[in-house]
Amino acid sequence: MIIDAHCDLLYQLWRYNYDLNSSECLQFDLNKWRNSPVQIQAFAIFVPDYLPQQKQYDVALQMIEIFYEQLIIPNQDIIHIKSKQDLDQLQPDQLGAILTLEGCHPIGTDLNKLIKIINYGVRMVGLTWNNDNAVADSIMSAKRGGVTAFGREVIQVLNQKQIWTDVSHLSINGFYDVLDQAKHVIASHSNAFTICQHRRNLDDQQIKALVERDGLIGLTFVPEFTKSNQPVHIKDLFKHIDHFINMGAENHLIFGSDFDGITETIEGLSTVSDYYRLQEQMEKHYSQSIIKKIARENFLKRFSHQR
Ligand SMILES: [Zn+2]
Repeated sequence: MIIDAHCDLLYQLWRYNYDLNSSECLQFDLNKWRNSPVQIQAFAIFVPDYLPQQKQYDVALQMIEIFYEQLIIPNQDIIHIKSKQDLDQLQPDQLGAILTLEGCHPIGTDLNKLIKIINYGVRMVGLTWNNDNAVADSIMSAKRGGVTAFGREVIQVLNQKQIWTDVSHLSINGFYDVLDQAKHVIASHSNAFTICQHRRNLDDQQIKALVERDGLIGLTFVPEFTKSNQPVHIKDLFKHIDHFINMGAENHLIFGSDFDGITETIEGLSTVSDYYRLQEQMEKHYSQSIIKKIARENFLKRFSHQR
């Protein structure tokens, strides 16, 4: 059983109206999910930053509607995981769906909008995407600012509600501000900078800091975060896993594929069903104990902190 902390299916469904049951255009559809070892998947509410600010919140709500009306309500075997209790009650023949927010730009400067989004059952909130917002600056911007005064209030809300603060996409200064302020920290989809020098990856100091704060790190399948030159193979991901383990992150590593958030994919790892192939290759390289930790145990242990 595998848990995956990040995918962008909701965005694809909102943007293109694909057939959720089975679509050649989706890396993650229901048919592929049911034919994969993934039992629990996090689904991000990701609002494109090109939309005017006043429309962004409405689009976030539209994606939540898609989550309920297309994923949860019509599919009896798919359970919305909002709490530890939901997780404990999940049956082997059921699939779990966790709702997350990628980037706080849709809330503007309105804490009530954040609270309303959270109340739909969101368990993980990324402070930024690739754009700066009222909460913090992004790693992709030149400004390099940290968490703002408003961002501090956002993190307080997340702490009160025992929700993960997600540092993937966040500026370096923002990252360390979150580590100072947030109770539950995750980098849901980032690889190791030492292995692939992309800004979106975590440097060694960040990895150490996340381990010290008992955070989680989601190994991601974005080819350009895995290896600087193409093609990228599954074994290239193992260099990241090895590095994270060498940095002491064995008990903190999880998966955060980013399926449907990427256009290019790693060879042999282009849909959620290909997790079988990844698993097979991991079994040749790693002990069962390490595989189980990355696949689910590290996540399950931390989710138990949540209400
Ligand atoms: Zn992302």
